[in-house]
Amino acid sequence: MPIVRVALDIPLSTLFDYTVGEGVTVGQRVIVPFGKRQMVGVVMECVTTTDVAPERIKPVTQVLHDSAPLSAGLLDLLRFCSDYYRYPIGQTVLSALPTRLRSEKPVISKPVLSFRLSASGAALDLESLPKRKVVQRRILARLAEGACNLAQLKALSATVGVQLKVLVAEGWVESFTGAKNVNVFVRPEFIEGHMEASTGSALTDGFVSKHTFDNAHTLTSEQQLAVDAVTQTSGYACFLLHGITGSGKTEVYVHLMHEALKKNGQVLLLVPEINLTPQLENYFRSRFPDVNLVSLHSGLSENERLHNWQQAQLGAAQIVLGTRLSVFAELPALALIIADEEHDASFKQQDGLRYSARDVAIFRASQAKVPIVLGSATPSLESYCNAQNGRYRMLKLTGRAQAAARLPVVRSININQTVMHHGISENLLREIALRIARREQSLLFINRRGYAPVLMCTGCGWLSGCKHCAGKMVLHLNEQRLRCHHCGYQLRVPKHCPSCGNGDLLPVGSGTQRVESVLQERFPDARILRVDRDSTRNKRTWQIMREQIYANEVDILVGTQMLAKGHDFPALTLVGALNPDSALYSSDFRAAEKLFAQLMQVAGRAGRADKPGEVIIQTAFPDHPLFLALQAHDFEGWAASQLAERKMAGFPPFVYQAMLRAEGRNETEVYAFLDQARAQAVALQHDVEVFGVVPAALPRRANHLRAQLLIQAATRKALQQFLRAWQPALDVLPATKLRCSLDIDPLEF
Ligand code: ADP
Ligand code: ZN
Ligand code: ZN
Repeated sequence: MPIVRVALDIPLSTLFDYTVGEGVTVGQRVIVPFGKRQMVGVVMECVTTTDVAPERIKPVTQVLHDSAPLSAGLLDLLRFCSDYYRYPIGQTVLSALPTRLRSEKPVISKPVLSFRLSASGAALDLESLPKRKVVQRRILARLAEGACNLAQLKALSATVGVQLKVLVAEGWVESFTGAKNVNVFVRPEFIEGHMEASTGSALTDGFVSKHTFDNAHTLTSEQQLAVDAVTQTSGYACFLLHGITGSGKTEVYVHLMHEALKKNGQVLLLVPEINLTPQLENYFRSRFPDVNLVSLHSGLSENERLHNWQQAQLGAAQIVLGTRLSVFAELPALALIIADEEHDASFKQQDGLRYSARDVAIFRASQAKVPIVLGSATPSLESYCNAQNGRYRMLKLTGRAQAAARLPVVRSININQTVMHHGISENLLREIALRIARREQSLLFINRRGYAPVLMCTGCGWLSGCKHCAGKMVLHLNEQRLRCHHCGYQLRVPKHCPSCGNGDLLPVGSGTQRVESVLQERFPDARILRVDRDSTRNKRTWQIMREQIYANEVDILVGTQMLAKGHDFPALTLVGALNPDSALYSSDFRAAEKLFAQLMQVAGRAGRADKPGEVIIQTAFPDHPLFLALQAHDFEGWAASQLAERKMAGFPPFVYQAMLRAEGRNETEVYAFLDQARAQAVALQHDVEVFGVVPAALPRRANHLRAQLLIQAATRKALQQFLRAWQPALDVLPATKLRCSLDIDPLEF
């Protein structure tokens, strides 16, 4: 009887063998008995012999035919990830699938509801609708261009769901469940039977996709050079598109996508943040109105995600726009990968399979023999170094795309030589007042939410520490709470010092809430909007806020890094960075790199349209090279000095690292585990540096003690060889009461 080797969501680095009666193909999902349970697995191999004794091997319970099998190419990619990130193969494979495909219940694809104008809707004069029905007007205008599904409409506004119901009730819009999707162009070769297990560019000869392409701008010569460089290469190549904010990187992406679509290829566009996708989705849809674009991110419902994933698998989705998890989407006709904001740390998964979607994307591009473009205004030093040593090809956009848009003026204010109002300097407040008078917007950037990062007793010096963590409890004044941002523990704000009974408790430092209240006091009539994780908990709130900002219904924005990324606010002309200094004395060697990128990014928000922008940095070190480089808009100089420092100190990208972490309730066990792991590592006598076992940056979290062990090697290969040799020893170390993880190319320390 044939035997299949199955990947299961089990923390063991093996496949599991089962007999199977009917014919199965590699990549198909099966249900198999495991212990007392039934589990979903993926057939990785079909073989004829097994080491399992004949009386012990069990048969497959059911072969699932509800979804096309995974391609050989995707399975290879997952094998690579499992090996590279030292994560069990079964867990790697299963974690790459949409939730619905991981469940034992077979998936019944629900038809996707689409919408179109009814006859009366088509006859309707939009101008007869009241002006304030903005969303209804938008929906009707969009549907006048052609039918859409719900996901496509949702990109128009946060309130589409409600407004759509109104329009349907009015009889202007009707829903239908006709074809799989609207405007879809399904590749004939992929709908018949099972998809061919093809890797990469299965482009159909002579079949040219016709799509409408909104060619908004004539490219600048730098943009044209970049587009040409990529389109003229065949096969794999990695490009670093280094363009200052506003230089028109997006325009380059659009043209590259257009070229790939013309050849009937699929495009994968990776973006870092989930809260950016609806906006981007909207934008790319408007540029490619009749192209089937799907998004993949964790904000979708399970059904939407499955549907979009299958659209990609069928080759029907021509553009896949997604966050890191979309790097594992099936893309039978993949022709181009773009990773926007490639430096962004959210491309790295911080639990389970700790992969870097950017790095996996590069591997995937080379596997599929297609070009990949990494875009950023502040490339990671890893990528920048690779572009300099010729491993990647550097493409530069050095000027702003719109002739009128000038770079913002950046200046520092010495906080020790000026009047400060709870963390905001008088100069900055005056600049804000000017902006309010001119009906322009200001943005204050502070990387802390809450009112104040700690509460202190003026009598005895007591600080609001968390009783479960090594960190401090943050004061949230609006909610009258002290909250630990590490473990979630919270308390009512005490009236008296828990240590000495003194009633005089003082908030120390500032967070977004405090900045908001200081501003409200100074500018009672100003419309102030706070944007942080607390104020945007609801998925749709942020989108509504963004619409307010666009409509210039906000005078001052106060926000965390959520506000730094990828937003184009035309009325914004002033940016203030309130407390950037803490990164300068951080123990994390990447802190300065991150700060530079963040400030460059927020600075890029100012003055993008025709109004010049200004950036004010409040610091105690106005002459620090980081701030001087920012003032000069000199990424190159800054990167060169950082790289020189890293080289001297022996830090990445000049070395390769892996971090073994352990945490548990019992300190002795944590350290015993890491000490033994360390002893085993040393005994292997590989060409790697084994550091000492040390406490984690946050040594205690939620009553768990945390420690770590760093391994460093001069080459990726040496590190990988070592890790392969080390793994068997790690697997047998007693660690039942511990949470352990191995992090390859770690970003967090
Ligand atoms: P980036 O992504 O590099 O920050 P964008 O792609 O958002 O920059 O472009 C910034 C602005 O310049 C946008 O408003 C865009 O429409 C405009 N733009 C881009 N390319 C051109 C061009 N070739 N000519 C005129 N305007 C352009
Ligand atoms: Zn006290
Ligand atoms: Zn805590």
